Amino acid sequence: MCIFCKIVNGEIPNNTVLENDEFIAFEDIHPQSKIHTIVIPKVHVESFAQVSAETMSNITPFIQEVTKKLNVDKDGYRLITNIGSNGGQEVPHLHFHILAGQRVGRLVSK
Ligand code: 5GP
Ligand code: ZN
Repeated sequence: MCIFCKIVNGEIPNNTVLENDEFIAFEDIHPQSKIHTIVIPKVHVESFAQVSAETMSNITPFIQEVTKKLNVDKDGYRLITNIGSNGGQEVPHLHFHILAGQRVGRLVSK
């Protein structure tokens, strides 16, 4: 089972920002900006390359709600999803990074 599926089922603790039946948003363990939140579908989907149009449609208002809860919707944020090895994806479960709380001046690199 992947690390984010373990977060979904409670095996790995997390600091939850917002949750509904389909999605969960939680704080990144190694934040790369003052606010760094991860948003995932609860069902395992490997990456954006495999996601359905329906899930993408549903996750959009959820992410928007998360940015309101974080109070970053007005000042802005960077929304990133990494895909595969050249994309720099380390966790093989679709996730969106919300980077905020400061001017995000560079791409996320590792
Ligand atoms: P990727 O490089 O796959 O796009 O991003 C994976 C992200 O997941 C990284 O920013 C990393 O810090 C975060 N991450 C990895 N393991 C954990 C964990 O166990 N808990 C939390 N909260 N974040 C994690
Ligand atoms: Zn998973």
